[in-house]
Amino acid sequence: MSVAPNPTSTAPLLRVEKLVRHFRRRRAHPFDRPDVVRAVDGVDFDIGHGETLSIVGESGCGKTTTGRLVLGIDDPTSGHVHFEGNDVSRLAPKDWRALRPNLQMIFQDPMGALDPRMTADAQIREPLDIHEIGSEKERRIKVDEALDAVSLPDIIRMRYPHELSGGQQQRVVIARALILRPKLIVCDEPVSALDVSVQAQVVNLLAELQQKLGISYLFISHDLKVVRYVSHRVAVMYLGEIVEIGDRNTLFDNPLHPYTKALISAIPVPDPDAPKDRIILSGDPPSPIAPPSGCRFHTRCPFAEERCSQRVPELKMIADGRKVACHLVDDLTTSPQASGKGAK
Ligand code: SF4
Repeated sequence: MSVAPNPTSTAPLLRVEKLVRHFRRRRAHPFDRPDVVRAVDGVDFDIGHGETLSIVGESGCGKTTTGRLVLGIDDPTSGHVHFEGNDVSRLAPKDWRALRPNLQMIFQDPMGALDPRMTADAQIREPLDIHEIGSEKERRIKVDEALDAVSLPDIIRMRYPHELSGGQQQRVVIARALILRPKLIVCDEPVSALDVSVQAQVVNLLAELQQKLGISYLFISHDLKVVRYVSHRVAVMYLGEIVEIGDRNTLFDNPLHPYTKALISAIPVPDPDAPKDRIILSGDPPSPIAPPSGCRFHTRCPFAEERCSQRVPELKMIADGRKVACHLVDDLTTSPQASGKGAK
């Protein structure tokens, strides 16, 4: 099963505005000023009802921190997360508690996400117990429905996590996330700890659940093959910033930002005769404690020019509806030929 067409909806379910999360890290000497880790540095995006937006990028680019900020697990340094029009950072604790069941998370490592002392049944119904939802009988029915939704047999109910396969463990995690009928699930590398054969089952299950229940996903992954399969739109992050965001096919078929080009060129192609024009980036990403001046990618960009280290490129909308932060793309879209200005 592949992802359904991107649903059209006027108001987004989630809107993230100028989101910033800086962490202060103590230095060895007590009189030294602490380092500031710029994990997320001014991120904007939205997610529609029934839509999947994926965030991709290397380890440490800020994608997991973004997911945690969306869920309220971390507080932003500045910026806003709006869910169904509510600025969640300004909600009273009572209102936030009422809204919280709509936002759930699926973690990378299902074994780590499950309590080894609890049976599958108890883990799936735990959110109902915590939020005191329904009678005993209603909770049992909801667990039955959740097991059914993730195609787990009744026999696993009384099993402990170590008695389940990796795929079954992740299905229990998904069933637990589903039981409160969330509108948005943040999936943080949900298949990267699973065998390849099980990955496909879990990815198909997420797509099926989206079609049946209209759930939106914020899908965080470094696996671009999976991202291409599950997403409606894709955001590429580098050192705490979004450098390109747009429709999945537009971005994969014609990446414009040099970092996106490099990521996509690294996807293995199962054809020995296919042209091998992989872009190899030099070095590791710079430290988020002292990001490079100007364009943060300029220290590794094969197309960098002098201005790239001096001026920060803005994330600008271009003609095909995507946004890109690169001076070279600015030139293409603002040249007289591209804009039509100066045409006779
Ligand atoms: Fe490369 Fe310059 Fe574009 Fe940054 S602004 S991605 S350094 S060309």
